[in-house]
Amino acid sequence: MDTTRRDFLTAAAATAGATTAPDLTYAQTRDHDHQDVPSDAALRVKSLESLLVEKGIVNSEALDALVDAYEHKIGPHNGARVVARAWIDPAYKQRLLANGTAAIAELGYGGSNGVDLRVLENTPTVHNLIVCTLCSCYIWAILGLPPIWYKSAPYRSRAVIDPRGVLREFGTVLPEDIEVRVWDSTAEQRYLVMPERPAGSEGLSEEALAALVTRNVMIGVAKVMPPQTGGRG
Ligand code: FE
Repeated sequence: MDTTRRDFLTAAAATAGATTAPDLTYAQTRDHDHQDVPSDAALRVKSLESLLVEKGIVNSEALDALVDAYEHKIGPHNGARVVARAWIDPAYKQRLLANGTAAIAELGYGGSNGVDLRVLENTPTVHNLIVCTLCSCYIWAILGLPPIWYKSAPYRSRAVIDPRGVLREFGTVLPEDIEVRVWDSTAEQRYLVMPERPAGSEGLSEEALAALVTRNVMIGVAKVMPPQTGGRG
């Protein structure tokens, strides 16, 4: 999966005429930063944070709480919980597809005011893919921060022009008779893909089901992997 994503990023960067190499290098070596110079973006963020704190506009604790929320509390595990609940509870699934915002709020998650959350169901004949062609609109409330590739110009344009090609680069090859629907997010309208429950998952608990649902699955660039049987030959 990582290899596929990196391949996609590399191709995306090449198409955009830029390179992600410096960022990747920095990310890989940040644990040894006693000699490294942080990236321009990191320095700008740090300077901005210092100034805002110094002028009393924000305080460090509030920033730490915000970062902690996005690192540990808000993230794709919340979206996975929504999907798993829908898989085991047909009435919830019905509510979720009818009114995503309200059904997601039932589990204690919410978007910003005025943002409509819509859940798109994958079926044996339809596969859904999410993009924001304009910028990076994303269902933050239950998926957390969007991945870098989601915000990249190549993904934003190619998801619309050649969705099957993009899916292929993520390792998702769909038969021609499956319709691919691409949904363009906006500031007011965000989407979540509800994948098909995989074969072999009948006896799994809600928690174990949620563990099968990844961020990429809920964006629509990946399919749910069947559960490991765990059997010994
Ligand atoms: Fe956007």
